[in-house]
Amino acid sequence: MKDRTLLMIPGPIEFEPAVLAEMGAPTTSHLAPHFIEAFGQALERMRQVWQSTDGQPFILAGTGTLAMDCAGANLVEPGDKALVVDTGYFSQRYAAILERYGAQVTIVSASPGGRPGLEEVEAALQAAALQGGGFKLMTITHVDTSTAVLADVPGLSALGRRYGALVVVDGVCSVAGEQLKMSEWGVDVALTASQKAIGVPPGLALLVASQRAIEAFQNRKTPVLNYYADWTNWLPIMQAYEARKASYFGTPAVNLVFALNVSLGQIQAEGLEARFARHAALSRACKAGITALGLGQVPLQPEFAAHTLSAPRFPAGVGGADFLAWVGKAGVTLAGGLYPSIRTEYFRIGHMGAARLGDILATLSAVEQGLQGCGYVFELGRSLQAAQSAWND
Ligand SMILES: *Cc1c(COP(=O)(O)O)cnc(C)c1O
Repeated sequence: MKDRTLLMIPGPIEFEPAVLAEMGAPTTSHLAPHFIEAFGQALERMRQVWQSTDGQPFILAGTGTLAMDCAGANLVEPGDKALVVDTGYFSQRYAAILERYGAQVTIVSASPGGRPGLEEVEAALQAAALQGGGFKLMTITHVDTSTAVLADVPGLSALGRRYGALVVVDGVCSVAGEQLKMSEWGVDVALTASQKAIGVPPGLALLVASQRAIEAFQNRKTPVLNYYADWTNWLPIMQAYEARKASYFGTPAVNLVFALNVSLGQIQAEGLEARFARHAALSRACKAGITALGLGQVPLQPEFAAHTLSAPRFPAGVGGADFLAWVGKAGVTLAGGLYPSIRTEYFRIGHMGAARLGDILATLSAVEQGLQGCGYVFELGRSLQAAQSAWND
């Protein structure tokens, strides 16, 4: 394809042709029988991809931030205590959302690229319990896209459960790319956006809520402080479509829902375990290439580096704008840093969804072009060799 650039940022990503075809198809009524079928099937497939036995899926027009907002609005009542496990920029966004709905937020943080230990999180849970009441909910960012840090969701959710907190997982950069067993791990809400590992153009906010979360919402004493996001409005709609009946509150994003159903079908056809293994192998290849060039990475330990993106640190003397322009000239779009205090010190490579080894190799080759353009001295081709060896391991 002429003038094609390879999009390797942490969302939006490269999409499968069959998914994109749905975006260009004639838009039907949201009450058309084949739309009702696609919507209902997408809800059922979400439950399977989230590995939830009895969770309630929601498909809303909006972005990942709306999905975060929606869980916050429906679960928080003014004065509730909430705990945020902070692994970066998006964790901190969650704290701001919860505060907006009147929560008293406690944040357990780590230095950029680190993650708070389970014992620190447990100490915060214990302290709140001793003061009486405890936390109504805790939030975990499964992969914080600003730091490429992967949280220990099973470990943290077990703690949350033990202290009676609802466990909300921001899975915007993880769902369908990282292992997530919603029911087995005791997660109460897992949410994402369409444009990341789910593999659909931007515009859908996707959530699955456990029955415990739905009960907590139903037991509220005060109204939900967000009209659009209120589950009172959406729960009957989701239930109707899953029962293959039409219903209306706000017009669904018709083409995006068709596209979502196609992508979820592809995810199931690949198989969840195979998909997670492919993401892990792509990540291994990418990270081996980065290391072979002498570059460090933002996550402080390889054990908690995400598999859906990589965050390489610039070597001394290489600057972000120049580097990204060189990479762009080599045909690949990458992202700059996002975490405020280290923003200029690193860049980000997304490798999720439809990504293949060839995309990683093209990306590493463009990274080499960028480094060379910025005057960094290394042996050309080093990262490609390392990535291929890591892939074959
Ligand atoms: C991208 C992202 C978001 C925000 O999603 P938008 O669709 O940009 O609103 C939230 N959390 C995480 C972890 C993300 O990666």
